[in-house]
Amino acid sequence: MRAFVPDYEMKTPANLQEALQTLAKNPGEWKLFAGGTDLMVVFETGKLTHKKFLNINSLAELKDFVVNDEDVLIGAGCTYSQIQNHPVIKREFPLLVQAGKVTGAVAIQNRGTIGGNIANMSPAADTPPALLAYDADIILLSTSGYRVMAYKYFHKAYKQADLRPDEIIMAVRIQRNQGMTHSYYRKVGTRSAQAISKVCMAGVACIFRGQKIEWIHLAVGSVGPIPIRALRTEHFLSEKQLTAENIREARAMLLNEISPIDDIRSEALYRREVAGNLLVEFLESLKK
Ligand SMILES: Cc1cc2nc3c(=O)[nH]c(=O)nc-3n(C[C@H](O)[C@H](O)[C@H](O)COP(=O)(O)OP(=O)(O)OC[C@H]3O[C@@H](n4cnc5c(N)ncnc54)[C@H](O)[C@@H]3O)c2cc1C
Repeated sequence: MRAFVPDYEMKTPANLQEALQTLAKNPGEWKLFAGGTDLMVVFETGKLTHKKFLNINSLAELKDFVVNDEDVLIGAGCTYSQIQNHPVIKREFPLLVQAGKVTGAVAIQNRGTIGGNIANMSPAADTPPALLAYDADIILLSTSGYRVMAYKYFHKAYKQADLRPDEIIMAVRIQRNQGMTHSYYRKVGTRSAQAISKVCMAGVACIFRGQKIEWIHLAVGSVGPIPIRALRTEHFLSEKQLTAENIREARAMLLNEISPIDDIRSEALYRREVAGNLLVEFLESLKK
């Protein structure tokens, strides 16, 4: 059943401070509305339980990129198109550019925001694996102040995360000069555009003389209730040579770290095979 529009209320705060104060008055009463690309889909199906929305799409405070010597801050309200076109992101964080390019199609990329992608908490979202691979932090704001959290601790369970009802995700922070020599991003879906991931893998690594892995970060989406860092596989691979045996063992280890399910988009067995194959593809690419 479609939603009845007059049942809903939308308010546009003048600035970030007003948005935070509105959220703080009665936490949970107002829900944030950024690009609306996730929310409008739920609205159309008549299943949007919240009735009051706070439009944060025009808040300039959430749309900034700040480039410091040590890190880059991407405002939560930045769209995929803005991220893809930012010169520092293009040069230093190509996984985010790739994630942006495979998210929906151009209309979604112009409207959908990175903050909305994170806060929607979908295990199949496309920026989380890239953010996890870069070991990003997120900055959360409320009237009580701000919290900085390693993004890898944000997601707790399916559609549950450490995000309080009076908080706004303000920005994503990524360290520059991490020393990676290689990076990898691949989304496997039904089509090359407008498809939700069946499996999505992102990784970065530092390789010594084309053979030994100094360190590696591996992140996978759509293979469990939340996007994950494959920490045990990373640990196994660090300081290892890129031999056929180590690659085989790492593949087996990854399959033990993921817990895909059968759903309308794919099957658990397929997702496991693909996740394993993507890891092998990534590890083989490290030899070059
Ligand atoms: C046709 C179509 C194709 C799509 N394809 C993809 C795809 O390929 N890959 C993919 O990952 N996603 C895809 N999406 C989903 C969606 O576009 C993204 O998740 C997008 O990034 C959501 O951002 P938004 O600003 O539109 O979020 P909104 O819909 O405005 O909000 C989503 C959720 O985030 C909350 N929220 C928003 N901003 C903040 C903030 N700053 N702080 C705290 N909470 C916040 C909202 O309250 C809401 O719960 C697609 C959607 C559509 C309609």
